[in-house]
Amino acid sequence: MGKNTDLPQITGKCRFCGQLRIIETVGEITQEKADEMATDQCDCKEAKVYHNRQQKIKKANEWAHNRFEKQPNIITLFESCFEKVTNHDIKGVSIKEGEWTHSITLDSDGFLTVKSGKKVNEEVNFS
Ligand SMILES: [Zn+2]
Repeated sequence: MGKNTDLPQITGKCRFCGQLRIIETVGEITQEKADEMATDQCDCKEAKVYHNRQQKIKKANEWAHNRFEKQPNIITLFESCFEKVTNHDIKGVSIKEGEWTHSITLDSDGFLTVKSGKKVNEEVNFS
């Protein structure tokens, strides 16, 4: 690495409070990306809430990717549900998949939860 005191700079704007921030970039970045980075680094309440939600969605998506590795359609469905539930667009949702029922909810403490239950039936016949 050579000595480089002249990193390119771009001004990003928090999408919530509008605070401007100078972003030092290694390569060229778009204004949109700069705004996103400024939002990430911003300390305003809205930005923190937003960041927290994004983190939650990200973790939930990772779970879905592990859980439904070979079912991209299910993963897409979960991803969209996680986003809607976390953003309070819907209160909760149940997804039936095979023998499983998965309930996605957001509780009052802000925890995003997936409860998975499997229907178990046992029948024994004697004649
Ligand atoms: Zn802000």
